[in-house]
Amino acid sequence: MEIIFATNNSHKAEEASEILGPSFKLILPSSLGFEGDIPETHPTIKENSLQKAMFIWNRFHKPCFADDTGLEIDALDGAPGVYSARYAGESKNPADNRKKVLKELEGVPYERRTAHFLCVVTYVENGKATFFEGTCKGHIALHESEGVQGFGYDSIFIPEGMDVTMAEISIDEKGKIAHRGMAMRKLKCHLLKNQD
Ligand code: IMP
Repeated sequence: MEIIFATNNSHKAEEASEILGPSFKLILPSSLGFEGDIPETHPTIKENSLQKAMFIWNRFHKPCFADDTGLEIDALDGAPGVYSARYAGESKNPADNRKKVLKELEGVPYERRTAHFLCVVTYVENGKATFFEGTCKGHIALHESEGVQGFGYDSIFIPEGMDVTMAEISIDEKGKIAHRGMAMRKLKCHLLKNQD
């Protein structure tokens, strides 16, 4: 089965296809000739996820899904949350975003640096949307790690029960414990149940 993943993020695509496996062929908008930005202008992660998926559905009328993810830090009252991509400004620079998080948490001890990722995947088929959620709890590290796996906030996020950041574990391990893996497994279950 072919499904369009409404993203320009190759890391997300790699993680998603790892979970979906070979029975599902992921198509990216760029390979259909769409190179533009996919809008995400709403005040919640769920609405942005729906907006991205519907944008691609309205363009191609093919089964598609989108993922919207936010990092919610307890000591910052849930920030950056829905603003995770542009936390340090409209240039959406991941290194600047990480730097800003570490700066905002200066002086906050490890035990109070609790945070979680929230990921909402929206799947659209025949114009109808279904939502799947995944979360991953952990702590914000005291310093950025030198790990090179993953992307975004991975190098400052230590998953619960681990002593390394998400940028220091393999894509396989991340898939098993993290938010996107959890949401994608729910989507895969839904797709397999609804296959003829
Ligand atoms: P979006 O879902 O693409 O809007 O992502 C929002 C922000 O969260 C971006 O800055 C991403 O780099 C970051 N982000 C999304 N997913 C992950 C993840 O799995 N790990 C670390 N950062 C992520």
